[in-house]
Amino acid sequence: MRYEKPTSAKKAADLLAQEKGAAFLLAGGTDLLVKLKMGMVEPDLVIDIKHIANANEIQITPKGFRVGAAVPGARLAEHTALKKAWPGVVEAANLIGSDQIQGRCTLAGNLCNASPAADSVPAMIAAGAKAVIVGAKKRRTLAVEKIALGPGQTCLEKDELIESITLPKPAPRTGDAYLRFIPRTEMDIAVVGVAVCVTLARGRIKSARVALGAVAPTAMLVPAAARAIVGTRLEDDALEKLARACSAACSPIDDKRGTIEYRTRLAGVLAKRVAKIAFARAGGQS
Ligand SMILES: Cc1cc2nc3c(=O)[nH]c(=O)nc-3n(C[C@H](O)[C@H](O)[C@H](O)COP(=O)(O)OP(=O)(O)OC[C@H]3O[C@@H](n4cnc5c(N)ncnc54)[C@H](O)[C@@H]3O)c2cc1C
Repeated sequence: MRYEKPTSAKKAADLLAQEKGAAFLLAGGTDLLVKLKMGMVEPDLVIDIKHIANANEIQITPKGFRVGAAVPGARLAEHTALKKAWPGVVEAANLIGSDQIQGRCTLAGNLCNASPAADSVPAMIAAGAKAVIVGAKKRRTLAVEKIALGPGQTCLEKDELIESITLPKPAPRTGDAYLRFIPRTEMDIAVVGVAVCVTLARGRIKSARVALGAVAPTAMLVPAAARAIVGTRLEDDALEKLARACSAACSPIDDKRGTIEYRTRLAGVLAKRVAKIAFARAGGQS
């Protein structure tokens, strides 16, 4: 197995393009190294992205934030402006694993591992985050919800990597939140994860984005759930409609952590709680 540490995303993409065998990108390694040790993957080439210029930086741009692909969860929590703008995204990322995992795990790694239960992904989707993708011949930007195609599968081409994740500058009176349910108090995989982002005008919800995790092959945006609360002050009937729309969007697996019925109902229950937090963060009063 070869190990390379390129200094630019383009060089990393060129290495991916040239490799004839199995090539894997290494960000924090909290998924990849586990799979390596368990013999689930046998790379011919490992490309460490932590030496790429700007990969370890969180930049404030005119349009919002640019989070480099190697920035670990713990650094997100230390960034005051990011936390103020997108508390739900930062909280979701900080739910990943333990302190040790937080020192390494990245948003891009969480996204590209493509687990349906990845915690930061619904929160990024609700926030309108985008992935900046670099390939050997071209660059492109895609909405986060378009990256995962199914469990362990992404739309990235063989020669592509995510260089950074961008988050928009939130409009005034915007609030986001994420909650997951796990059977234990920590260090577990979400049975359901829900993220909500709302923007208010004159006390009512002007626009909303609602995303679900762990209830379908990929995390997903649920426009019907957003429609249920737009124009409302999150009154009880709006919350009920939100819950119904979230449950209706679920097509979960049945496993030891939760039955299909349980996950479906839980998605609605959690959505109501998350929406209330996002609404309050946006300055709303119900
Ligand atoms: C003990 C433990 C607890 C965990 N708890 C949670 C949890 O609570 N919630 C949760 O969601 N996850 C959890 N995880 C999973 C893991 O920590 C996260 O998915 C993490 O965000 C992965 O990020 P990473 O940087 O470590 O990814 P890596 O392991 O480096 O990479 C993951 C995958 O993405 C690919 N990849 C990485 N970076 C890029 C890039 N820039 N472009 C393209 N492909 C890339 C890699 O090749 C690999 O296939 C846990 C893992 C462990 C070991």
